[in-house]
Amino acid sequence: MFYFIYHHKYRILAGLAIGMILVWLAVFTRAENPFLEVDFFDVGQGDAIFIEAPNGNQILIDGGPDEKILEKLGEEMPFHDRSIDLVVLTHPEQDHINGLVEVLKYYRVEHILYTGVVRDTSAYKEWSKLISQNYIPLTIAQAGQVIYLSPQIKLYILWPFQDLSGQRLKNNNNASVVIQLVYGESQFLLTGDIEKETERKLAGSEIDLASDVLKVAHHGSKTSSTEDFLSKVNPRVAVISAGQKNPYGHPHPSVLERLKGVKVYGTYKDGDIEILSDGQSLLVRTSEY
Ligand SMILES: [Zn+2]
Repeated sequence: MFYFIYHHKYRILAGLAIGMILVWLAVFTRAENPFLEVDFFDVGQGDAIFIEAPNGNQILIDGGPDEKILEKLGEEMPFHDRSIDLVVLTHPEQDHINGLVEVLKYYRVEHILYTGVVRDTSAYKEWSKLISQNYIPLTIAQAGQVIYLSPQIKLYILWPFQDLSGQRLKNNNNASVVIQLVYGESQFLLTGDIEKETERKLAGSEIDLASDVLKVAHHGSKTSSTEDFLSKVNPRVAVISAGQKNPYGHPHPSVLERLKGVKVYGTYKDGDIEILSDGQSLLVRTSEY
């Protein structure tokens, strides 16, 4: 079972709602292994991050640009497991939403977390249609929410600061859901496609961004990974999710330069990247080694 609450640590943020916003989920009885597993799937040019807690709770953050995500989930999940506890859409661009549309068709998704930002694309329309057809409970993501995967494993929603539901935005990237996953002494900062404007707001806030693992924002684009933000996060490991020989030139050489001293993994060169945590140490495994 896991659930969302607001956490006192972020009460300072805009006087956000107080108390529990929602509760629920399936109870799992799977045998526990001690590791939190975070998989950065090689889905080409896009993002798809799969999280599995020791108690079996599963979360998928973004689905990449196409149906390749189904193959990746098939490799990771047992054949009989056709459900995912929580799906997060960071923002509705095609390299994040398209694969999730496929996931909604083939898996039972128990809950969705999304900003509610509206986009006039066929993928977005299909996403909305599948959610309502299947009566999937949806929570509007907002800073201050905490999702408990287990008593020890928490997802802190750090961005957006406001409720953006129903809005149409010029720059969806900067409205990506930003999440810090914490297990004991291990922290993972998952940034979607935020760019320098949002990085500045986060770096200038009271939020403690320090994290062992940073999912580098916006596929390593030069419009993200500002010096100030990186110094606040101070990661040991950075993961860049980008397609091999992608037409955007991601990751940008200047971003790799700013990440000097950090161990950088990339789906474009390492394939699938799996990071295990026991709450203290991290173990990184890649499919291309
Ligand atoms: Zn993207």
